[in-house]
Amino acid sequence: MRLVLLGPPGAGKGTQAEKLSVYFGIPRISTGDILRHNVAQNTELGKKAKSYMDSGQLVPDDLVVKMVEHRLKESDARKGFILDGFPRTIAQADALLKMTKIDAVLSFFLEPEELIKRNTGRRVCPKDDTVYHVLMNPPKKPGVCDKCGTALIVRADDREDVVRKRIETYEKQTAPLIKYYRDRGMFREVYATGLIEEIFLRAVEALKA
Ligand code: AMP
Repeated sequence: MRLVLLGPPGAGKGTQAEKLSVYFGIPRISTGDILRHNVAQNTELGKKAKSYMDSGQLVPDDLVVKMVEHRLKESDARKGFILDGFPRTIAQADALLKMTKIDAVLSFFLEPEELIKRNTGRRVCPKDDTVYHVLMNPPKKPGVCDKCGTALIVRADDREDVVRKRIETYEKQTAPLIKYYRDRGMFREVYATGLIEEIFLRAVEALKA
């Protein structure tokens, strides 16, 4: 199963990618996570990517395409993968189709105001990247990661002004991929409202269709 997940920031794409990864036994490849790790470790890639990420803009295509190309060559991706956050532009989608075959594209849909609410409630563990939400998916003890006990943080790009910018970036640069994949017969849409488990069942159903 080679899957691409699409959806604006806050649609719950990462959470569903994690669940689908366990369900199908294939790795979740999140370009956002890989980039954040590079920023945290201050690598050459991290240094180049940071200012774009902090302002809610996309990191240039050539950097991200190279990064994904490299990641897809790792042995765990041979039996399939879930791309979470890539492609985000038509140029990235073209590059991806040259790299590998894709079985389906799942697109998570939510109303814009609901997106703002979701994004500003997100909390993440800086150590193991577990994602929580103060309303939808709170940790057992407020402010602390269930898995490792580390204090949770708000991602720098989850501030409301940056969230608005990220949604705008999605609409301008990534939403055109809906038509792109629809034209190629790969597109499946999933309504991302409701409980995490309900959305997950919808996603699995959409993949059977
Ligand atoms: P995410 O965690 O997927 O929301 O990604 C966080 C940030 O990383 C985005 O706002 C972009 O700045 C950058 N990013 C992640 N994936 C990509 C991509 N495929 N193309 C360009 N920038 C990306």
